[in-house]
Amino acid sequence: MAFPEPLERLIRALERFPGVGPRSAERMALHVLRSPPEEVAELAMALRDARMETVRCEICGNVTLRSPCRICADPERDPGLVCVVEGPREVARMEESKVFPGRYHVLMAGFAPREGAAPEEAALAALRRRVESGEVREVVLATAPDREGEGAALLVAEALRGLPVRLSRLARGLPVGTRLEYLHGEILAEAFRGRRAWNPDSDPDGGEGDPSR
Ligand SMILES: [Zn+2]
Repeated sequence: MAFPEPLERLIRALERFPGVGPRSAERMALHVLRSPPEEVAELAMALRDARMETVRCEICGNVTLRSPCRICADPERDPGLVCVVEGPREVARMEESKVFPGRYHVLMAGFAPREGAAPEEAALAALRRRVESGEVREVVLATAPDREGEGAALLVAEALRGLPVRLSRLARGLPVGTRLEYLHGEILAEAFRGRRAWNPDSDPDGGEGDPSR
């Protein structure tokens, strides 16, 4: 063991974060040792609270303080229009764009990067149940225009196969490889307004046409 046991333990814990390798974990752990004790206590508390005081919304799967979340509980939001996104960050970006009048469904794809980026089975099953309830007329796929996002979109289409619901996707003006979470609100608003009907069987490249048809 290169460091005292408590420090080793911290390094191992930090290494579990996405994008943090052993060297970064060591740097972060040593930074903790140089920090004032009250800052470290605050960090520990923030970690704990973020994990323990939030839950997944029982309807859309987004992260929230209370379930159902604010958006699912809002009678002003159209329950017939459901936007499927990969994670909570994409919900935040869509909300900032103020363009979307409907509700969400959060796949949690890529939420645990070590387990790959596939949507959770439970999230797909929950989406199917929402659509089966008959309340949803259109599902807008807002997964990223990259390989993971395309894969997630196909899994969603497969989960909804045979159900009477319109599928659409955000307009393809988005630069390839752009993750939704990084997009500017205005571009996102354009992409939503220009969304296209999508049939993965007849047109795997994204589809054409007006979803309201
Ligand atoms: Zn919700």
